[in-house]
Amino acid sequence: MAWPPFVAAGAALGAWAYGTYEPNSPLFGPAIGRGSRGGRIAYLTFDDGPNTGATEPILETLAAHQVPAAFFMVGEHVRRFPAVARRVADQGHAVGNHTLRHRKLHFSGPGRVREELEGAHEIIASVTGRAPRVFRAPHGYRNPFVTVTTQRLGYTVFGWTFGVWDSDARVSADEIRRRVRRKLRPGAIVLLHDGDGYDPEGDRRRTAAALPGIIADAREAGYVFRSLTELMP
Ligand SMILES: [Zn+2]
Repeated sequence: MAWPPFVAAGAALGAWAYGTYEPNSPLFGPAIGRGSRGGRIAYLTFDDGPNTGATEPILETLAAHQVPAAFFMVGEHVRRFPAVARRVADQGHAVGNHTLRHRKLHFSGPGRVREELEGAHEIIASVTGRAPRVFRAPHGYRNPFVTVTTQRLGYTVFGWTFGVWDSDARVSADEIRRRVRRKLRPGAIVLLHDGDGYDPEGDRRRTAAALPGIIADAREAGYVFRSLTELMP
């Protein structure tokens, strides 16, 4: 029996929604959402910076504990806080593209997608002296135009394994720490926020305050943090 047309349309819509909203969906090109499950290795990633209140304390903690991380930056925030962005790059962390203005890209056409990705690429490259090679879509939302542009820029696209809603102002630093400890698993790409995608002055100090405990808990559980770039093909 042939399926009635509305079933096929529903399935296509479902697939489109999956590719759009699922951060690790392969539908619109591959996105890496987790590393190898074979050992106690994990990856720290920080989105939406740079940010004056949180990025620098996070960098200090990472340096003190010799932990590498990846920072997916918003181009307009880089323009606003160039010295902070430079410091991230100078400390050897991976610097990623997270669009120019933190636009949700799932309904964006090719022109807008190009503007968001290339705009951020140029600012990040000129400010930090390093052209980004990794991309993460705001909220993980992608569409086929995103795939075309990331491929042209030579990017590896990353999703994440879990987030802990650290951008929710009601979540304390202790709770952020507890959530990471509970969710940590082999190969996990941990999504945290050193900035606010829409507010360059957004307060992410609770995430910064949680970080020493996150690192201590992970190490106690036998985890080693490695650079996200080792997952690039
Ligand atoms: Zn974001």
